[in-house]
Amino acid sequence: MAVLPIRISGDPVLHSPAREVEQIDDELRTLVADMFETMDAAPGVGLAAPQVGVPLRVFVYGWTDDDDVEHRGVAVNPELFITPTSTEPADPDDESEGCLSFPGERFPLARGARALLRATDLEGARYELEVDGWLARIFQHEFDHLEGRLYVDRLGRPFDRVAQKIERKRGWGVAGLSWLPGRDDLDA
Ligand code: ZN
Repeated sequence: MAVLPIRISGDPVLHSPAREVEQIDDELRTLVADMFETMDAAPGVGLAAPQVGVPLRVFVYGWTDDDDVEHRGVAVNPELFITPTSTEPADPDDESEGCLSFPGERFPLARGARALLRATDLEGARYELEVDGWLARIFQHEFDHLEGRLYVDRLGRPFDRVAQKIERKRGWGVAGLSWLPGRDDLDA
């Protein structure tokens, strides 16, 4: 297993739709193991394959809720159905989201409160999960990655401008940038 470099906003792999996984084989299992290790090292609560430079429809997640229950899994070729997003402005205290491909920043973003995930696991079995709250947010965030969309692309004013400014200031927004958890120090 290995910790993989995480691509930063601007790399084309993050901004184009990923391809369906055609075969669950050892190569995919290794990728998923590396993705879990990378997510845990970052640390993060979710990671999509395009973030490690692989344009495939796979994401992993790992998040512990307030009752200390750990939710951890992998979604291959997922489908996601969500309840409508509130039209109220997002609450900066309760609805701020971050992304390992836009490291060190968090911005408020409204999401659908509930989600239904249908996906394939590493044994090739299709499963279904109905979730709400943060897990629903994580699934929406990771699913967006597979569509070539970052959460900063969804921000409302004034946060969209702020994110653009940060991207320029840090020299992101170009191809080929990445950071390696455990090696690169982030001012997160
Ligand atoms: Zn992300």
